[in-house]
Amino acid sequence: MELSDALTTVKGVGPAVAALLLRLGLRTVADSVKYFPRTYDDYSNITPIGHLQPGPVTVQAQIASIKGRYVRRGMHITEAIASDETGSVRLVWFNQPYREAGMKKGTDYYISGEFELSHQRFAIQNPATELVSDFPVSTARIVPKYRETKGLKSRQIRQIIEKVLPLIRKQPETLPAWLLKEYKLMPYAEALEQMHFPESAEKLALAKRRLGFEEVFALILASLMNRQEFKLEQAPSVPFEERVARQFVAELPFQLTPDQKRTIWQIYLDMQATTPMNRLVEGDVGSGKTVVAAMAALMVLHEGHQVALMAPTELLARQHAATLQQLMDPTGYGDQVGLLVGSMTTTQKATARERIKDGHIHFMVGTNALIQESVDMHALELVIIDEQHRFGVDQRKALQLKAGHMPHVLSMTATPIPRSLALTLYGELDISIIASKPPGRKPIETVIVPKTDRPKLFSTLDAELEAGRQMFVVCPLINESELSDANSAEATYERLRTHEFKHRRIGILHGKLSAAEKNSVMDAFLHHELDILVSTTVIEVGVDVPNASIMLIEGAERFGLAQIHQLRGRVGRGEHQGYCYLMLTDNEAPSRRLRALERSQDGFKLAELDLELRGPGAIYGRQQHGQLDLRIAQLSDTRLLADARHAANKFLERDNLLQYKELAATVTRLRAVTNLN
Ligand code: ADP
Ligand code: MG
Repeated sequence: MELSDALTTVKGVGPAVAALLLRLGLRTVADSVKYFPRTYDDYSNITPIGHLQPGPVTVQAQIASIKGRYVRRGMHITEAIASDETGSVRLVWFNQPYREAGMKKGTDYYISGEFELSHQRFAIQNPATELVSDFPVSTARIVPKYRETKGLKSRQIRQIIEKVLPLIRKQPETLPAWLLKEYKLMPYAEALEQMHFPESAEKLALAKRRLGFEEVFALILASLMNRQEFKLEQAPSVPFEERVARQFVAELPFQLTPDQKRTIWQIYLDMQATTPMNRLVEGDVGSGKTVVAAMAALMVLHEGHQVALMAPTELLARQHAATLQQLMDPTGYGDQVGLLVGSMTTTQKATARERIKDGHIHFMVGTNALIQESVDMHALELVIIDEQHRFGVDQRKALQLKAGHMPHVLSMTATPIPRSLALTLYGELDISIIASKPPGRKPIETVIVPKTDRPKLFSTLDAELEAGRQMFVVCPLINESELSDANSAEATYERLRTHEFKHRRIGILHGKLSAAEKNSVMDAFLHHELDILVSTTVIEVGVDVPNASIMLIEGAERFGLAQIHQLRGRVGRGEHQGYCYLMLTDNEAPSRRLRALERSQDGFKLAELDLELRGPGAIYGRQQHGQLDLRIAQLSDTRLLADARHAANKFLERDNLLQYKELAATVTRLRAVTNLN
């Protein structure tokens, strides 16, 4: 048997079972080796029958008697008595007629199952039984439970994996010996075996640590190698002109915060180098990232070269173009800002392209599509990516081809990524954090509203609208099967429009609208032609409507903390006090999670809490986690992350990946995983 063999080479796996295994995604022996248990049942303690207590139990006993019968059509019961020196216990199996013939008398068995009351009598229900002389798989141990499929039970999967054990035990080590020693890691083959058939809870924990370590280690190694390669590229050096920077700052209507200054300085240092910048600016909503981007662009424009800014949505691209124009105007570069987005007409696009080509527009603002458009980018020196955590290797290569050289890359995100995690997921990036907000920001008043308190709230809201403010109403994204949900954007819009706020102007924004429709709704809201904007989370990122003071979130319990925090950052941006109302679907007491939002305005703290309570999927989306192939490692395990990072750096200093075939293959695959958004 080989890892690459089909599972049909395992004894007892015929075409029928193979088909069922395939449903679980298992085709080869290797697939089964990596098919780790979902959970475990601890049947490792053997109890004398005389001391049995209700619950999961294991006894070591002989079968005194066994008999099966049909109690009615379609209902077969096998009953047995098992005894040891301390007493006897009844065993009951439902619809397993083969049990009777399968059990030998006068032989010791391990018998594991739930000891419980059934029809007024105690019995071990549907127990698993195994000869004491065999390697225990389903009894007398910590028993692995696998994800099952119809017709294929965990027990059968266990039996298959048991047959693969001899091969598992022969698996060569995948990590360097020095690394195992320094980080006290369990050898690979042993870890695989302990995952499936743990000898003890401690060994299981060590096995998880070992395999989790390897996952994170490979991921970090991949990003460090990407970083090394990236640093071999050449990029045009952008000289720092102090006079230009000073003039720009002097024209700003505010003072830069220390964090903004530090970040801008780091960027200027990066861009002066002849290796390409690859920096991520992390800053909470409203921390002032746009002006940082503008100052980065400034030096490049001053030199007469090109900058491209890419935003995730057209809405945001439009808003950025307007803001940047304003920021650049006093220093004379405002006219060089130009928009290029998909919804523009062919003529508009042609004009924009022409103006880029003849050098009128040096600062191109658009969506990702900007890279695809046939735009003259020969003088491109800086690319700014807004609200995207990582600009993938492939995209960078595409740009490099287009521009004829590697530009500097600056990414910006408001998703607060705890530092330990950022270093793991985005190890190839340099990171600047804007932690402090501009002074004078009032915290957004945040209130959790149970269902019964709604009517009271609406008069408060209406008073605010009457005073000339505007309100966002955000509804959870609902999948097809739940479209009739009362929380959906459509249903909420209808309700508000015909009931609570029928005297107000209301608009709706959701993913199914065309870009042009979205723009016109957003424009109407921006120009106060609408009082209320009902939407799905499409407004999550970026949009700036200073007159909006209320953020009302329907079905708040369905949102992640980081997400709600981003949403509430949409209000209180102007001179007016901002309010955020978290509407609960029912009257249940609000969770600890949601209550944290009432107390804290710190995006990083909230993200860490979410990470702790709900795991990384809550913040970064399940899909990303899946793509990263982290099946065992917990990203909230900061100790593991730190160790793996340390190890990866050492590895690059003193070892050679080519010596480790399996690791090299994994790292190569991970290096190609590009767009993590
Ligand atoms: P974000 O980091 O969410 O992109 P923005 O760049 O949109 O934040 O900035 C939010 C608001 O704060 C803008 O209106 C901007 O003009 C303002 N702002 C930025 N920096 C400062 C500062 N240092 N002092 C006062 N206001 C600032
Ligand atoms: Mg922004």
